[in-house]
Amino acid sequence: MKRSVTAGGERFEYVLIRSRRQDVLLKALPGGETRVYAPSWARIRDIDELVRGRAGELKRLHAELEHALERSRLDHPMVEGSRVCVEGKGYFLRLLRGARVSLELSGDLCELTLPEPENEERVREALKRALSRRALGRVRERLEYYAPRLGVEFGRVAIRDQRSRWGSCSSKRNLNFNWKLIMAPPEVLDYVVVHELCHLIEFNHSPRFWRLVEGQLPEYEYWKRWLKEHGGELGVGAVATGNS
Ligand SMILES: [Zn+2]
Repeated sequence: MKRSVTAGGERFEYVLIRSRRQDVLLKALPGGETRVYAPSWARIRDIDELVRGRAGELKRLHAELEHALERSRLDHPMVEGSRVCVEGKGYFLRLLRGARVSLELSGDLCELTLPEPENEERVREALKRALSRRALGRVRERLEYYAPRLGVEFGRVAIRDQRSRWGSCSSKRNLNFNWKLIMAPPEVLDYVVVHELCHLIEFNHSPRFWRLVEGQLPEYEYWKRWLKEHGGELGVGAVATGNS
């Protein structure tokens, strides 16, 4: 539900979402949208009042978010000739116009075809989509390689857009992987694949679990550390749409 309140002579619009939480959460989203998650029993008047009281804080949150997005865009320009990392190797981005998004690596070029190559925001989105597709193929391939070695079977496989999680598995044996892994060296992706597969045997991080990982990847500690140190550098800069 859309609401608006006035504070200090300024209008604040927000989207109210009723949730099962017991407190009120204010969230600033890219593009200036504010979301307010409130318990179902909270009165609308009280929520408006709370938003009004925290208008200054909201303004600050939006300013910080815009600043972070802008900095991320400057750090990762996505234009013709920009550097892009795929499977641990650096490529020069080459933009081509075409109706459908596709990505091809040839020599030291990463050729990205998309409908609007002049729009940097579309370039980011297309690159993210094409790399996610590539990540899914690669992850499946590595799962099929390691699963029989560990003697495990897995359920559905999905590629996710998560800020800080690299992989996860569910009690239904479904596995999720972060698309950005396709940008890291192949051993890093292998490490995350093996890590999640080992969780299907040991649902913890016990010494037994790490021995299983080591059995497949004797150098796993190096790649684990790599991910910790460099994981934050992976990505194509903030994509402002379809991401929260
Ligand atoms: Zn784990």
